[in-house]
Order: sequence, then structure tokens, then C-alpha cells
Amino acid sequence: MLYKRSSQLFAEAEKVIPGGVNSPVRAFKAVGGTPIFVKSAKGAYLYDEDGNKLIDYINSWGPMVLGHAYEPVVEAVIERAKLGTSFGMPTELETQIAALAIKMVPNIDKIRFVNSGTEACMSAIRLARGYTKRDKIIKFAGCYHGHSDSFLIQAGSGAITFGSPNSPGVTAGTAKDTLLARYNDLDNVVELITANPNEIAAIIVEPVAGNMGCIPPKEGFLEGLRQLCTDNGILLIFDEVMTGFRLAAGGVQDLVGVTSDIVCFGKVIGGGLPVGAFAARAEIMNYLAPLGPVYQAGTLSGNPLAMAAGLAMLKALDADRDVFIRLKDKTAYLAAGINKVLTNNNVSFTINTIGSMISVHFDENAVVDFQTAAKGDNETFKKFFHGLLQEGIYIAPSAYETWFITDALTYEDLDFTIQAIDKVSKTF
Ligand SMILES: *Cc1c(COP(=O)(O)O)cnc(C)c1O
Repeated sequence: MLYKRSSQLFAEAEKVIPGGVNSPVRAFKAVGGTPIFVKSAKGAYLYDEDGNKLIDYINSWGPMVLGHAYEPVVEAVIERAKLGTSFGMPTELETQIAALAIKMVPNIDKIRFVNSGTEACMSAIRLARGYTKRDKIIKFAGCYHGHSDSFLIQAGSGAITFGSPNSPGVTAGTAKDTLLARYNDLDNVVELITANPNEIAAIIVEPVAGNMGCIPPKEGFLEGLRQLCTDNGILLIFDEVMTGFRLAAGGVQDLVGVTSDIVCFGKVIGGGLPVGAFAARAEIMNYLAPLGPVYQAGTLSGNPLAMAAGLAMLKALDADRDVFIRLKDKTAYLAAGINKVLTNNNVSFTINTIGSMISVHFDENAVVDFQTAAKGDNETFKKFFHGLLQEGIYIAPSAYETWFITDALTYEDLDFTIQAIDKVSKTF
């Protein structure tokens, strides 16, 4: 058995950690079996506790866009650690990373750092509510904005008017302020705005969806949201926790030329340390404490180790903008290879890609929103996932996840992956 020690470690973890994991998707519930325990990682590869080497297509769910243990990031963290790991006081590093992020991302004047993408999105909607003096928000089914209460909402029976909690512990009171729309469906957004005149503070959206597989926005969708927000005094929030500093130096705003009012970051911006951030024009950001009335704070926000890692990462991306072209080329090569072998093996599938994000759905129809993503055949996905694991390839243990391409992947790695998919898909 290839994953013996991992399964032993999981059994031990289950005794002391709920479900054995600190974030549910890691537990392999959607695919069966037990999770792989990592010992170390370098470049495009993971090394697990059983001594297996795996090609990694998750990359910590996005942050390691330049590969694991990227030398400048590792060096920066080691050097900073020697100077003290947390002060709860300002450091020059915070200004440096803020200035660089503002230089790279269009349409932002100020940025505040937090500790996770969840915190960034949670703070962004509080800011939007404070700024607009309105309570309701619109989110899209299948978009993920972290685990704060306002976002753990599913379509209620009266989906047009308000959502209902999709986790115990989220109150009906919170749920009533989150309206749920279909991704890529502007008419649905218009209906919600019309039914709730002057009540909507913000529309929050993954401008390229990455948490129901990878779903690019249809032509005109983001432009339409922008216009609806401008016309109705609503703030448009781009949740670029996944796409920021990945699809382009300035994220999706940069890629498609649509501007948001508030933008959220996480993942890449921390270079693999726990970092999130939200940013906007000065007029909006000045609404935050201590300048303005909207409260937001954090003991470890702007932590020097995290800022050092993030700064090293952003500097590397800023200095080498071709990286985004290389990533796109590698992704396109992988997509073409997978397309070819799955077609040859008579598998029903759809591949979605944009930039360095790719997802394979086991259904032949176009995947454009949560409903269509949910049609994928999960039994086939399970075989696919476990088959690839046996071949030494690690993709996300859920059919609803995007694969993240890293610059550390070589074309040999991609060829190896395509061959493995050929082999595995013959057994479906
Ligand atoms: C990962 C993610 C989050 C949550 O970030 P955490 O750091 O896990 O809290 C929010 N939004 C999007 C789009 C994400 O992909």
C-alpha cells in the first residue's frame, strides 16, 4: 500500500482534531479514502510521509504560484524571523508590501492586511455596508468567499428574495441579508435589485469563479455587474482571493479591464503564509477605523513574517511579468493534452480554463454556473482522483475544485500527467 503511514497518521489525528483536519476538504470525504500527509515540498512536487513523490496541482489551494519552498520567500521568512516574529506595532515592511500591491493592482489607493481570505471578504462587506448605509448583499451560488456567516447561505425557497443558512449556527437573521443569484446570469441580478430597491450595499463576486471548478465569466457579465452597481449606488466587490496576482499582475480587473470598488486578496499575496487583504479607493478605505467609523482590527494583521513572505512573492511576480504568459501556456498545453486523451477514450467531459486555472468536469455540457457544475459525474471523478494518486499526481479531492498550475511545473511533468490521465481514463 502506497499510503500506509499517511492513513496511520490520519487515524491519530482523528482522535484529537475534528475529522482529523483543520479544514474540511482535506479529509477526502468527497472522494473516499484517507488524506495524504505531507512531509515536505519543493517546486512542483510534494513528498509525503510514505516517501512518495507527487506532482502537485493544488499548490496549497493557490498560493504557491511559483512552486513550493520558493527560495526568495523562504529566505525572507528566515531573515525576518531572526528579528522577532510579532510586535503588534507598525513595521516598514507593511508600507512596502502595500505600496507594491497598489502599484500592481489597478484602481486601488489603499489596502489593509488581514490574516485570511475569509477575513478579507468579511471585512469588505462590513466596509461596504458602512459606506453605503445599506444592509443587504448579493452573492452568487457556488462562489466561495470564506466561512463567515453572511456567506454560508444557500438558495431558500423564496430564492428571489432571500437565502437560508447552509450551516447550523448561521442565524436566519443573518441569512435574510444575503441574496443569492446565479453566476453568469445578469437578468437574475436585475430581478434581485428590483425586488430590493435601495437596500443592497454590495454585490460580491469571484470575477473568475474558482470554487465550483473554474468558471470564467461570460462575455458582458462583469461589465453588466459594473453598470448595475454604478446605476444603483451598489459597491462591486471582486473577491480575487484566488485570482489576484495569479491570472495577471493586477488580477481580473487588469485582465478584463472591469473595475471593482473593493477588491479582496488572499492566497498568493501571502506567499504561503496566512495573509488576506482588502483594498479600494481612498474615499472608501478612509471609512475604516481609525480614520472612519467602520471597525476592523487584528492582533497579528500585518505580521512581519507574513509580510516578508508576501513582499518577496509580489516582488518576484512584479519583476517577471512573463510568468503569467508561461503559466497560461502550460495550462493550455495541459488542457489540450487532457482533451485529446479523454476524447480518444470516449469519456464525457468539459474542460474549463483561464490563465493558470483549469478544471475537468465529467459531463459533456458547458459548465457555466453552480447548477451545471453539479451535473458532473462524481463516481467518475472519484476513479479519476484515486487513479491519478496511484500514478503520483495530486489533484484536489473534490470535483468542485480548480487545479492550480505553478511555474515550477515542467513540460515533462505535464506530459507525464497527460499520460497518466490516458491510462486512468481507460479504466472508467
Ligand atoms: C480561498 C478563498 C477564500 C477564503 O480564503 P481563506 O484564506 O481560506 O479564508 C475566499 N474567497 C475565495 C475566492 C477563495 O478562493
